[in-house]
Amino acid sequence: MEQEALKGNYEVITMKKLIAGNWKMNGTIEAAIELAESIENGLEKKPELQEKCDVLVCPPLLHLLPVSGSIEKIALGAQDCSQNDNGAFTGDVSTAMLKDIGAGYVILGHSERRQYHNETDELVAQKATKANEAGLITIICVGETESEREAGKEQDIVGAQLAASMPEGCTPENTVIAYEPVWAIGTGKTATAEDVAVMHAFIREKVGEGIRILYGGSMKPANAAELLATPNVDGGLIGGASLKAEDFLGIAQAA
Ligand code: PEP
Repeated sequence: MEQEALKGNYEVITMKKLIAGNWKMNGTIEAAIELAESIENGLEKKPELQEKCDVLVCPPLLHLLPVSGSIEKIALGAQDCSQNDNGAFTGDVSTAMLKDIGAGYVILGHSERRQYHNETDELVAQKATKANEAGLITIICVGETESEREAGKEQDIVGAQLAASMPEGCTPENTVIAYEPVWAIGTGKTATAEDVAVMHAFIREKVGEGIRILYGGSMKPANAAELLATPNVDGGLIGGASLKAEDFLGIAQAA
């Protein structure tokens, strides 16, 4: 990281953008390997992309191992982990297991897990503690719903989520924050660059310098350049558009 300029009350640090694909629960092993290989080939052909950004893919759990065998330039992440150590926790996957298969990152507190699995901020913090202890970098997701934004409560919501979801000992080395307005995920609606700038400045004040803050929510090649050029946007967490190598690489290109 190198210090570029002083803006506002705090230093703005330039760092490589993190372009992270959240593949969610999609595809087959064959399709996952094909997608990973297409992204690898794309990066191979355009070395400048790797100078500008770190590229990460987070396949479904069962696809992590096969994908790990076909990537070198791309980092590997999981979409969730257990808050417990190995043991009698049927159906769960420990951070040690994720480390063992070569994962470097884990997404935590995605709004879909908060919504469909009733994950709370406290649980996210417990998982993040375990993940950091195992040497995984966490991507902690926060974001308001549409009605919360309409009520003007977005900063209260995101501030509270950050305070309760980030465990002790978060550093730029072990933590990434993803701001994902829930109403923008998978809907085609994107927050305006202005709204993103305001929220990311707010998050920056809360988390301090150095921690990467990603934007997520219907990012695609057509809107990526503007979003990724917004102050305090250090990369993107990308769902739908990460399932097509061309679109995902187009976003990396925009960075
Ligand atoms: C996500 O689920 O993290 C996400 C940002 O999805 P999409 O890009 O499809 O909105």
